[in-house]
Amino acid sequence: DNRPLHGLLMDAAENYPDKVAIHFMGKELTYQEVYDSAKKFASYLQGLGLEKGDRVAIMLPNSPQSVISYYGALLAGGIVVQTNPLYTERELEYQMKDSGAKFLVCLDILLPRANNVKGETNLEHLIVTGIKDYLPFPKNLVYPFIQKREYNMVVKPEHAGDTHVWTKMLEEASGNVTMHEFDPEEDLALLQYTGGTTGYPKGVMLTHHNLVSNTQMSKAWIYKAEYGKETVLGILPFFHVYGMTAVMNLSIMMAQKMVLVPKFDVDTVLKLIEKEKPTLFPGAPTIYIGLLNHPKIQKYDLSSIEACLSGSAPLPVEVQQNFEKVTGGKLVEGYGLTESSPVTHSNLIYDDRRAGTIGIPWPDTDSKIFKPDTLEEMPVGEVGEVAVKGPQIMKGYWNRPEETENTLKDGWLLTGDMGYMNEDGYFYIVDRKKDMIIAGGFNIYPREVEEVLYEHEAIAETVVAGIPDPYRGETVKAYIVLKDGAQLTEEELDQYCRENLAAFKVPKLYEFREELPKTAVGKILRRKLVDEEKEKME
Ligand code: ATP
Repeated sequence: DNRPLHGLLMDAAENYPDKVAIHFMGKELTYQEVYDSAKKFASYLQGLGLEKGDRVAIMLPNSPQSVISYYGALLAGGIVVQTNPLYTERELEYQMKDSGAKFLVCLDILLPRANNVKGETNLEHLIVTGIKDYLPFPKNLVYPFIQKREYNMVVKPEHAGDTHVWTKMLEEASGNVTMHEFDPEEDLALLQYTGGTTGYPKGVMLTHHNLVSNTQMSKAWIYKAEYGKETVLGILPFFHVYGMTAVMNLSIMMAQKMVLVPKFDVDTVLKLIEKEKPTLFPGAPTIYIGLLNHPKIQKYDLSSIEACLSGSAPLPVEVQQNFEKVTGGKLVEGYGLTESSPVTHSNLIYDDRRAGTIGIPWPDTDSKIFKPDTLEEMPVGEVGEVAVKGPQIMKGYWNRPEETENTLKDGWLLTGDMGYMNEDGYFYIVDRKKDMIIAGGFNIYPREVEEVLYEHEAIAETVVAGIPDPYRGETVKAYIVLKDGAQLTEEELDQYCRENLAAFKVPKLYEFREELPKTAVGKILRRKLVDEEKEKME
């Protein structure tokens, strides 16, 4: 498939113009409407002087605007830089400086934040859209993206100078786009920043071909799904590579209807499922856990759900089984990372799916287990570093040649994750190389301890981390969130762990919390907890 990425929308609009592309807070847009708006956005950017290869940052929650500006920026020849709308000024400034973005699209409520950053960066134009305009964002869903005090400071932005108001922009734009020639294998479509779970986010250079290939491959997990027939639940944020490919681009390629959710809120989502009846539901473990923990989940009719793909973090077997019981649909696990657009492995819904594994490599994707820091293959069943090769693998890190060299070797992407392959070619992730705990000379993978904890009926959510320890180097600590109304003491927990884990893996410390810190895709931020411990020790 040699289309540029925006070719997916062009083809859907040509073949399925009247099909609904987006459902958002009760309003619907067809493929033709989305494409027409994207062309307007593209022509407007070109009118502002966008040249091929200029970076266009998009800082929006899932919304029609987030889809339109993404495809519009690509049509115009820009490179999209997705930005988390929850970013603070400091984080936004870092990303704008690192990427050199010239344009930024954001919610009008975030305009003060964007304006403060503008002077320090290459930003020339701000395009704002928002709560008081077309397709309003309800106040309660916008709150998480701003501080309360900022909300009261919102002034309707003026369409003048370097500030462009979305609705005015659509009125003024001609829609006549100067189309560029694209070399899909060379030209970048995206500078996608990594999740920042282990350190500073790095800009990953993804080409048009990387993303189109991964979107094509994405069909593998739901190979019976038909073009134009499915409804896809869009909870995963599109500013993260997983939601972007597995929800937005896949839906658009297959002309499906996307039901957009700007913010994950359990009640809203359960009601939405009942009403809009999505059939496909790509998500992340904490999303499924969040829904399962709703005390009245049994009361909702979730039977429309046929297929779910869980990625971004390990899926506890318990969660998979319970979610399947509640919905009657099937939930399979997949795996990927920003550097591979992102997906490389998954189980297949209608095939030999297996719990606790990330499944098999996707079409056109090769995967091997190497002895860490070498390209020497490990025997079947032995743990090493997971490596992947395929058309979805990034060109490299933006302005970081050294890190690129350490990560891409001989066409292989070294993932930084430890895992193994069994005799049938199924892959298992043990944990991240960096998260392995070394306590008293023993290697412990947090995930193994977490799996045991998840099996405990009182535990809703948990994460295990290696905490610095002067004597043992590191020590195992478990953070626990209990289910509503559940009771559990440290002694009971210790007893339970001793019965189920080898002594050296049993957590030495427990901490009960109301909730755990998470990233935008709901990945639990283990690093943040370890940093807190380090600060306490200083
Ligand atoms: P940074 O690279 O900036 O630290 P990050 O690693 O969170 O951030 P992402 O690219 O979003 O950035 O996440 C990729 C990582 O997520 C993988 O390397 C892996 O550790 C983890 N991951 C994804 N899917 C799974 C899965 N099914 N099981 C276990 N881990 C997974």
